[in-house]
Amino acid sequence: MASKFQAPRGTFDVLPAAWRARARVEGVAKGIFERAGYETIQTPTFEHTDLFERGVGKSTDIVRKEMFTFEDKGERSLTLRPEGTAPICRAYLEHGMHKLAQPVKLAYTGPFFRHERPQAGRYRQFHQFGIEAIGTDSPLADAEVIMLLSDILGELGVPGVVLRLGSLGSLDARAAYLEELKAHLHRHEGDLTADVRDRIDINPLRAFDSDDEGVRGVMASAPTILEALSEDDAAHFAEVRALLDAAGIAYEIDATLVRGIDYYTRTIFSFVCDALGSVSEIGGGGRYDGLIEQLGGPATPAVGWAAGYERVLLALDEEPPALGRHAFVAVADPDQRGRAMALVTELRNAGFSAELDLGGRALKGQLKHADRIGARQVLILEADGTAQLRDMATGEQRPADTGNLLGEMTGGEA
Ligand code: AMP
Repeated sequence: MASKFQAPRGTFDVLPAAWRARARVEGVAKGIFERAGYETIQTPTFEHTDLFERGVGKSTDIVRKEMFTFEDKGERSLTLRPEGTAPICRAYLEHGMHKLAQPVKLAYTGPFFRHERPQAGRYRQFHQFGIEAIGTDSPLADAEVIMLLSDILGELGVPGVVLRLGSLGSLDARAAYLEELKAHLHRHEGDLTADVRDRIDINPLRAFDSDDEGVRGVMASAPTILEALSEDDAAHFAEVRALLDAAGIAYEIDATLVRGIDYYTRTIFSFVCDALGSVSEIGGGGRYDGLIEQLGGPATPAVGWAAGYERVLLALDEEPPALGRHAFVAVADPDQRGRAMALVTELRNAGFSAELDLGGRALKGQLKHADRIGARQVLILEADGTAQLRDMATGEQRPADTGNLLGEMTGGEA
């Protein structure tokens, strides 16, 4: 039955069984966001390209190589969103959210697009859920958002998760450190890859992310940002750590942690999981105190993270929850179809999941079908107007009163 059409490279179909597993993740995240007061925001799937050039940063891999950019019929450059934070900050400014009670706490979920080399856990269309707390520089906000991701992964039961924590310092304080780092990289240019060498002056921090042996050797002796934090930044970082300690959240300090997006300041973090192999990160984020100003707004500190559904599901590696239907209404005689439809509607209105045969099958075929779709009980309408209720697990069958349908069915409720 294969056709010549396939989903584009790096994309995939989420079939119903996989959707059930995904819905569980979404449900857990949604519950935790709601209880913590993070309300859902939805921004468009595409934005003006310069939002990402400005927000994510021109020197990042995302902007240089990975965006799906196109021109619309009015010759405007648009881009399928590669990440969610810049669009949310755009919306914060566009809708004057600085007038609301601060911080504005937002949650989101949806598809994102990056032209990356596809592999397990890395796709060109992937799906994230995330939160942002905009309008506070308090370390409490950093600790809260980190705790919420930790809670979600804990409630889902993702095994072997490690939280890596670092700080990039504030933008002004970082400038002096970056000069020091550039000088170190220039001194060792001969051991660097062309890609790292080309970006010494535009994005030296990315050198910490390289897999190349030579670059790793150079970075082992590089100065780290944690040694160079200003007094304020160091105090902020210490407070975040103390709050996580008090909450009983374990973490590893990683002095070489960096992220692939330019807007981060101060706290950054990454939840990694061994089960994911080389694409080890499940979710991560940090503080971005300069982003809203960068987009033309007032100085507005903020912190947030995003996690990938596909990564969470890969790390969980579990069977999707079983399919379960409460009831199936079968007819022994085609004349009973109208009545079957009315009873199915009555059951659905009462909160049961109930189905009937849409395929014109004989009774035997209907029972087989009810079994295949996981119905727990089948109500069989006989030609003479009587009815039988069959328990699919035991095969037991007894007469049933359709005038008291809900009373008859309750025993089979999921
Ligand atoms: P980032 O927006 O780069 O900070 O990534 C946040 C999270 O999104 C990561 O931890 C992953 O879980 C997920 N993610 C990022 N890129 C991809 C991708 N190409 N495929 C699947 N998941 C991704």
